[in-house]
Amino acid sequence: MTTVVNRFAAFLRIALLATMTLVCLAAGALAEGPPVATDGRVVGDDSRTRFVLDLSGEVDLSAFTLGEPYRVVIDLPDIDFRLPSGIGSTGRGLVSDWRYGQFAAGRSRIVLDVTGPVKIDKAFVLPAVENQPARLVLDLLKTTTAAFEEDLRKSQLARDTANEPVQKADQLPPPDRSKREKPLIVIDAGHGGVDSGTISASGVLEKDIVLAFAKKLQERLEQTGKVAVLLTRTDDTFLPLGARVQFGRDHAADLFLSIHADSEHEGSVRGATVYTLSDKASDREAAELAAKENASDLIAGLDLQKEADGVTDILVDLTRRETRNFSASFANGLVGDLASTTRMIKNPRRSAGFQVLRAHDVPSVLVEIGYLSNDQDEKLLTSDEWRSRVADAVTQAVLRFFGQKYAYLGK
Ligand SMILES: [Zn+2]
Repeated sequence: MTTVVNRFAAFLRIALLATMTLVCLAAGALAEGPPVATDGRVVGDDSRTRFVLDLSGEVDLSAFTLGEPYRVVIDLPDIDFRLPSGIGSTGRGLVSDWRYGQFAAGRSRIVLDVTGPVKIDKAFVLPAVENQPARLVLDLLKTTTAAFEEDLRKSQLARDTANEPVQKADQLPPPDRSKREKPLIVIDAGHGGVDSGTISASGVLEKDIVLAFAKKLQERLEQTGKVAVLLTRTDDTFLPLGARVQFGRDHAADLFLSIHADSEHEGSVRGATVYTLSDKASDREAAELAAKENASDLIAGLDLQKEADGVTDILVDLTRRETRNFSASFANGLVGDLASTTRMIKNPRRSAGFQVLRAHDVPSVLVEIGYLSNDQDEKLLTSDEWRSRVADAVTQAVLRFFGQKYAYLGK
């Protein structure tokens, strides 16, 4: 009898051990993948405001403030954001709104827009307790402009490193264009990660629409066998404007094509627009659009670099002039191909001071493929059939451009 009891006890022990192992394995499986952010909120008033983010586990964080305009940046490791849609579009107290997303490989970022100078009083992560998830907590206090600027000066160093989202491109000289068999097109899907771009009434994000279009265009261009294609981004990651320009230059692209989608207060405006760089905008709307697109770095919580003085180099000037001519020639042709395929806005050939078109040695054109603020355009922009058709039109324009430029493609 005793033996049976002992055996039974031994069996129980083994069963218990097996169960525990399974539980541990399950926990291990859950622990893989990045922590999940499930909800967020802002509480408090105009003198003291608290930002809270619910998380599936504890994380390290760093937080800092930025001026012009006033922002608070929270840097985190890779986070799987599964927050309710539309969250962050309104704030409370010192926070007017906030956004989140991937900032660079393995790094996430939250950017709070604040109503004025603030001081980060506390920033910490609470472990999960009982039925409460882990929580990221950031307390902001209202402060004076002078105190804010003093803090900013002190944290300058930390900010400089935090603002470096991409690794420096290796300093190899750019490839020699003349030795290439095929011209290289760099397609730049606008926005990404923490910067969503414009948002339709139904919640469609510009960053997703333009990435889908960029991938379709890459597919169509490569199918011709006549050109090579690279994308500045292939997933939902943020890229600073300067890094996009640098990407085109590092690869000595023969053409740089930046893809965006616009929005307007009046929902009636629709159609595509083709932009080139100019110091003086072609019209008020173009100037406003360029300002909006140029705000990408600011939206992602970058400290805006003061623009370096224009280099006065006669060779650079000559290259710039030639590059602008090529850009204009491609843009003019593109308008024709697009117009026979999809709707265009009135005066679809415009120009303004887009930062992303600034490479002096890479012909660069920006296409706004439509308006997310217009219901009919939104339907088109999210349709694979439309994407293919418009990608074919752009492909045609690209081949004609290089056909004129290089005899070897004209055969
Ligand atoms: Zn855009």
